[in-house]
Amino acid sequence: MRSHDRSKELFAEALEVMPGGVNSPVRAFGGVGGDPIVMRKAKGAVLADVDGNEYVDFVSSWGPLILGHAPETVVKAVCEAAARGTSFGAPTEAETTLARKICEHVPSIERVRLVSSGTEATMSAIRLARGYTGRDLVIKCEGCYHGHVDGLLVQAGSGLTTFGAPNSPGIPAAQAEQTLLVPFNDADALKTVCEERGEDVACFILEPVAGNMGVIPPAEGYLQAIREITQRYGIVLIFDEVITGFRVGLGGAQSRYGVTPDLTTLGKIIGGGLPVGAYGGRADIMAELSPEGPVYQAGTLSGNPLATVAGLAAVEALEQPGVYDKLEALGAQLAQGLAQAAKDAGVPVRSNRVGSMMTIFFTEEPVTDYATAKRSNADRYAAYFHAMLERGFYFAPSQFEAAFVSLAHTPEQIEACANAASESMKKVANAG
Ligand code: PMP
Repeated sequence: MRSHDRSKELFAEALEVMPGGVNSPVRAFGGVGGDPIVMRKAKGAVLADVDGNEYVDFVSSWGPLILGHAPETVVKAVCEAAARGTSFGAPTEAETTLARKICEHVPSIERVRLVSSGTEATMSAIRLARGYTGRDLVIKCEGCYHGHVDGLLVQAGSGLTTFGAPNSPGIPAAQAEQTLLVPFNDADALKTVCEERGEDVACFILEPVAGNMGVIPPAEGYLQAIREITQRYGIVLIFDEVITGFRVGLGGAQSRYGVTPDLTTLGKIIGGGLPVGAYGGRADIMAELSPEGPVYQAGTLSGNPLATVAGLAAVEALEQPGVYDKLEALGAQLAQGLAQAAKDAGVPVRSNRVGSMMTIFFTEEPVTDYATAKRSNADRYAAYFHAMLERGFYFAPSQFEAAFVSLAHTPEQIEACANAASESMKKVANAG
């Protein structure tokens, strides 16, 4: 057994001063049980904890680290930028360089605004869509996550047109009621809602590849259908590509599936592991933003020099030929290895993957939306998670998250992971 003594000590201390001992809830292992592991350092695909244990990491800081941990180019760029000054509150050249690259690669983005988190990006994109259309309602998909924006932390209420109900205390019911919910991958449901309320809807926001209920690809024709419906009602279509942006291709999911939204939100990869977010899209909509237009949004650390150069270094690495083919191959190897391990052990799973993001769902039926994802056996996932952790493979501490492969992973590490999964799946089968 690996020792986690120091980790336990530090987590006990953290509990004294931080709610749940963490600064973001899912880190707390609530979905799998046990105490979180306190990390000390990482390089490439390997994480090291405070007790000296090592893990091949498939969390990748929840998506940003597509080059792996502490890549030399990013570290060098950040150190050099820090020496020049960590924040100016005034324009810098690097912001324009990064903005230009984003505009160049992401089909929908003609102009872009940099912010400091994914939450800030989605919150601001929704305000912009409301300001642009003069309408209040927002449609979102059940099971998609867009950060902790008040109006998006909602669950399905009752009724034909499903008005949102708050799923956290602290969110006024009146705010949640401005959000309507539809199932992911169900264009007919969107059509029905629009037939009733379409003229009052400012925007439809979704993850084009769902990543926050586990990975769920869009069904054939789904993105095309919602593009057509939103266009018909003058609804701003927002793709939340905070995870998929620069992950499933340089142009994100919109490029991969050939569907162009009106606005796009980004984060994670474009900050190279530093805090960042961005939203952008059609020039006429972006022109509504302050100081050019009347829709207000601002940020003291927006376009921060360290985050900007880190993001630039990451994007430049991703522009190299063959990079996405490599990610695709590593992703396929991992998904196949894990699925085979489950099959050999007689454990039913469904493996969903798009490029280098994937989820193994412990269920027999296809996982296409939140309802089917939720029918997965989370206890089996927990048993699998802990068995893998003990063998030195770090996956997300929840069934409903993505595993991410980076360019730093090697086929050998992934093969070792598949072998560990073979042993772990036997434990899962025995656990019932
Ligand atoms: N959108 C999506 C699709 C996300 O996955 C996340 C975070 N995981 C966010 C928005 C919010 O980003 P942040 O945590 O940086 O606020």
